[in-house]
Amino acid sequence: MLLIDGHLDLSMNALEWNRDLTRPLAEVRQREAGKSDKVDRGRGVCTLPEMRRGKIGLCIATQIARYVAPDNPLPGWYSPEIAWAMTQGQLAWYRAMERRGEMVQIADRTTLARHVAIWKNNPSSNAPIGYILSLEGADSIVDLSYLERAYASGLRALGPAHYGAGRYSPGTGASGGLTPAGRDLVGEMQRLGITLDVTHLTDEAFWEALNLYDGPVWASHNNCRALVPHQRQFSDEQLKELIRRDAVIGAAFDAWMMVPGWVRGKTTPADTGAKIETIVDHLDHICHLAGTSRHCAIGSDLDGGYGTEQTALDLDSIADLARLTEILARRGYSETDITGIMHGNWIRKFSEALPES
Ligand SMILES: [Zn+2]
Repeated sequence: MLLIDGHLDLSMNALEWNRDLTRPLAEVRQREAGKSDKVDRGRGVCTLPEMRRGKIGLCIATQIARYVAPDNPLPGWYSPEIAWAMTQGQLAWYRAMERRGEMVQIADRTTLARHVAIWKNNPSSNAPIGYILSLEGADSIVDLSYLERAYASGLRALGPAHYGAGRYSPGTGASGGLTPAGRDLVGEMQRLGITLDVTHLTDEAFWEALNLYDGPVWASHNNCRALVPHQRQFSDEQLKELIRRDAVIGAAFDAWMMVPGWVRGKTTPADTGAKIETIVDHLDHICHLAGTSRHCAIGSDLDGGYGTEQTALDLDSIADLARLTEILARRGYSETDITGIMHGNWIRKFSEALPES
């Protein structure tokens, strides 16, 4: 069954991890043998062939580049212009994938409908993977005039925040509301028709952004605070507001967001027993709050800077997500629910969010 993944940092992996995602997974891992510059060297789980094997024919794919001020300890770039240039390199990689026929950008409803029809109808083994271009953290938008340029390149969604202090909004691990520039950014997103991705916003910025913005909303990769108490996850009040706004929430497979008490770099999947099925606890929780499964989807983040050391114990490749259909059925989800979670709910939201042509 077609699976839509609401969050993959494909181009970041290609450029910053130096991974050729067109190659077989075993080869990508092999090439990293002996390297230790990233924690997940040799343990990546996502390549384009593996996505095809798992019938992941469409995803929201990011550009991502953080600006860091001199006092910001997080990794990042030293000026907004450098961050912008990084995102343009990432865009160049997506374009090169398009030229090879590996990927295809989905920026309007007509292209979406055509692409979904191909993937629902026995796609060829080398069918291009569709991507909706999104920006994770808005630091690279040097000023608002850059947003218009980004839209022209196909940018259709934006999450103003990532980790720590941001130029437009503080994010995970930080506190406070949108910056004045962030409030302007949200207004400009509304004007251009760019979807608001509320993932990574602080609680304060979450409510502020939703008050300022009344266009389409999603949370590309978010789990439930009721199950894993941390600000990175959404509280029930936040989830209820997203349900009220008819948002779609992509469940993430970063293990520290799946099970409570995970210590990065210390806890192992075997310590917690976190499995692919563990994600269903999060889906169940949202379904119970909503009384329907129409807001649930997948946003795996399975190339977000970690690999097998920090995801479900029984997940070796992103293709293993295909097992969700059987797991959801076993957990009592109907055929309609399963189709919605695997792709239907994202398609509904994309159809509303994207321009006609
Ligand atoms: Zn993220």
